[in-house]
Amino acid sequence: MFENPIIIDAIINGEKYKTEKQEPRENPTHPDEIVGYAPVNTLEDTVKAIDVAYDTFTTWRTSPMDERIERMRKAIQKIKEQTSEIAAILSREHGKALYDSEGEIAVSLMWMEYACDHVKEVLKNDVQEHDNGKTIIAKDAIGVVSAISPWNYPISLSTIKVAPAILAGNTMVLKPSPLAPLAVSKVTEIIANEFPPGVLNLVHGEADVGVELTSNPKVAKIAFTGGTETAKHIMKAAADTIKHMTLELGGNDAAIVLNDFDVNDERAMRRLVISNFLTAGQICMIAKRIYVDKSIYERFVEKYIEAANKWIRVGDPFDKNVTIGPVNNQKQLTFVQSLIDDAESKGAKVIKLGKILDQNLYEEGYFMQPTVVLGANQDDPIVVEEQFGPTVPILPFDDDEHAIHLANDSIYGLTSSVWGKEDHALKVARRIQAGTTMINTAAIQGLDVRFPFGGVKQSGMGREYGKEGLLAYTDTHVINLPKELDLPYIPE
Ligand code: NAD
Repeated sequence: MFENPIIIDAIINGEKYKTEKQEPRENPTHPDEIVGYAPVNTLEDTVKAIDVAYDTFTTWRTSPMDERIERMRKAIQKIKEQTSEIAAILSREHGKALYDSEGEIAVSLMWMEYACDHVKEVLKNDVQEHDNGKTIIAKDAIGVVSAISPWNYPISLSTIKVAPAILAGNTMVLKPSPLAPLAVSKVTEIIANEFPPGVLNLVHGEADVGVELTSNPKVAKIAFTGGTETAKHIMKAAADTIKHMTLELGGNDAAIVLNDFDVNDERAMRRLVISNFLTAGQICMIAKRIYVDKSIYERFVEKYIEAANKWIRVGDPFDKNVTIGPVNNQKQLTFVQSLIDDAESKGAKVIKLGKILDQNLYEEGYFMQPTVVLGANQDDPIVVEEQFGPTVPILPFDDDEHAIHLANDSIYGLTSSVWGKEDHALKVARRIQAGTTMINTAAIQGLDVRFPFGGVKQSGMGREYGKEGLLAYTDTHVINLPKELDLPYIPE
């Protein structure tokens, strides 16, 4: 078992690094309880971590691939052995139900294993013999990677970067979010301990640390998951030194329910409810707007509410009957409530869903009963903005063209889903602007670490997961051995 409260240190050059200032992290279920303390690193600490990563890169980039894979597999094994303790910390600091924390760790391990299994093949030299000699297309490590992750899935959205980056021969400085810093630090420590000092460094802090990580000239690549507004600052900070970037940003994912969707299909309806409310709706790829063909709208709403009432049980993340815990923080709760209040003030109907299992606890923590919002307009903030919380608007559409228009009418394009008969759904899916579109399922239920994930439009650039997620931490290096060394058209 880990200590209580949990004390986290930064990790610089393989050593635990104490800071003068520490930030408490409260338990969103019982906000008076401090789960642990994370360091608040200074800019000097951050520069030191970057310098160490920069110096270590010169040796790590040439280390044998087999050695890197073996080290990562040892880390995977240790994380597996400690899954239940790490999941418990995550549920305490984050508020997500225990099954959800365990699921996050399982997906992280799945990806780390995929990375170990495939990195050698994906990054191997492509040697081409041709009419003018030979060309080797190599994949080189890029350098120091700054990884910055958000609070909603802190472990998976950090390991999604750490594993491919260091397997490819890069070194890294990781900064998790102060709103869920503890469990991810335990995982990072396990990984860092399996690698030579300086390969994986960990710092904590707010935006000032983030600015250093994204502007320091020794950083070659930024791997960021977080909000679109933050990404705009990062792009500006990185501009002076032209850094490589993978950006996984906000989403406002549409779920389109076609006229041939069977509203009596209870399993499908349950999947749709889960795709709106898992992790209290705090997932980038959650379905955040539901558009339903007007010919089935009334029946759909009735059956959706029935399914939601069955699945949604709000309460203590450690209660096995609970499907949804509290929201992670008060600011998020206030923001989501303001979107709901705004819609209601304009005439929309707000319907509460599911059961609250413990009313006293509900009043103590950052809890929010899930809702559907009926009668909102396409340009209302609850439809336009990423709510990132347990609410979802349901809007009718006239025909498929109209649905496609409404779904694409957004600055975002992360994931989306189409619900109905497969052929019909496929035709509609092909016309949606999104990085991923799922048929008859959505959100994490349709995620597969073997295939690339990322957004279009302002939902990001680049891809994580799959082969693209491994290649993202490399530069292409072409080595030419031409037979004809002199070009015929250049005069003697
Ligand atoms: P955020 O943008 O507020 O913070 C993300 C991280 O950036 C944190 O570690 C934060 O400390 C750091 N940061 C803040 N200001 C910075 C700056 N100026 N420079 C560098 N770093 C800075 O996001 P959040 O509230 O933690 O997470 C929620 C957002 O993340 C949502 O918009 C969600 O959609 C998005 N998200 C996207 C994906 C995806 O894969 N596309 C996945 C999860 C979350």
